[in-house]
Amino acid sequence: MDVFDQIHEAHHEQVVFCHDAETGLDSIIAIHDTTLGPALGGTRMWPYRSTHEALRDVLRLSEGMTYKAAVAGLELGGGKAVIIGDSKRDKTPELLRAHGRFVETLGGRYITAEDVGIGVEDMEYVYEETKHVTGIRSSPHGSGDPSPVTAYGVYNGIKASCVKKLGSDDLSDVSVAVQGAGHVGYYLCENLAGDGARISICDIDEERVHKVVSDFGAAPVEPDEIYDVECDVFAPCALGAVINDGTLRRLRCQIVAGGANNQLEEDRHGDALDAKGILYAPDYVINAGGLINVYGEIVGYGIETAKEKARGIYETLLSIYDIAAEEGIPTYRAADRLARDRIRKAKEQKASHPVAERA
Ligand code: NAD
Repeated sequence: MDVFDQIHEAHHEQVVFCHDAETGLDSIIAIHDTTLGPALGGTRMWPYRSTHEALRDVLRLSEGMTYKAAVAGLELGGGKAVIIGDSKRDKTPELLRAHGRFVETLGGRYITAEDVGIGVEDMEYVYEETKHVTGIRSSPHGSGDPSPVTAYGVYNGIKASCVKKLGSDDLSDVSVAVQGAGHVGYYLCENLAGDGARISICDIDEERVHKVVSDFGAAPVEPDEIYDVECDVFAPCALGAVINDGTLRRLRCQIVAGGANNQLEEDRHGDALDAKGILYAPDYVINAGGLINVYGEIVGYGIETAKEKARGIYETLLSIYDIAAEEGIPTYRAADRLARDRIRKAKEQKASHPVAERA
């Protein structure tokens, strides 16, 4: 497909192709929408097989960031950057600094962060060239590990989903099968255990499973058996694409609500969940706590305010479930609708106050 056709398709504002001859950096920065604020989204480093593959990824990811920020009620737009290369082989401090200089040329329209292939330590080099970076240790406003806030948001999202599907948000007798005992999974189990939920846990790392079992009395499950656990809530907190043709047949839950990104392998799997009567908490809505935490770095608030905002995920999800029920659409589509509505209203408001905008 023609490059401009691709850019027009999801209404991206700006796509910047960057090349630095000295370091060999080839990257793309995509700014999807800045109606609500500067476009925030991480930089991913990946050995894409072609420029088109990299472009497709950065366009898709930046659009997703717009929706995530909009539904979370943040004054942020959506953006993303991809560096074409193998992070284990090609990543150098010079290359990261060159990326930072390109981010700087955008004057704050795009704010970056870490993502797949780019860690907190890499961001320190980017930060040497631009202040439009979040998630760095040496910054005076650095917000640190976002996972406790992410997990707190997921916990509140599970409660909202239980109200909708089970009629109560009392988790004391609710069974939750958690996939992944990493950062988000561990803190989620801590929250769930505090309410007396019955937890099943799996991870490919046995030590992590053991910790959740001994700290919270969870029942261990083999990684591949987690889909077969009969439970109220299945909470994916490890990998993407776990809702697919293979797992859909096996799920024995009433709700899918977890912290992992990109849980649906394809949109049609969201339709299939709906058809099976399984309530799906759209991933980018329920896991927005991490973004809320990072946003605190920009506007200057601390963890307690971030947690308070993450508690709002409860009400947001209920609104999405209402839209889905009223319009007879799956919840993942209702979430997109809510995001687009917020952006459209902000655009209309700007159009009706053009002078105030300029002032
Ligand atoms: P993590 O790396 O700390 O934890 C992931 C865990 O999943 C690891 O313990 C890993 O061993 C386990 N795992 C991998 N493959 C597995 C498998 N097949 N079965 C069971 N367990 C498996 O990562 P995290 O920060 O906890 O993030 C988890 C998910 O949440 C990711 O999808 C991430 O993109 C998403 N997310 C995280 C945050 C955050 O604040 N950390 C925010 C938003 C979204």
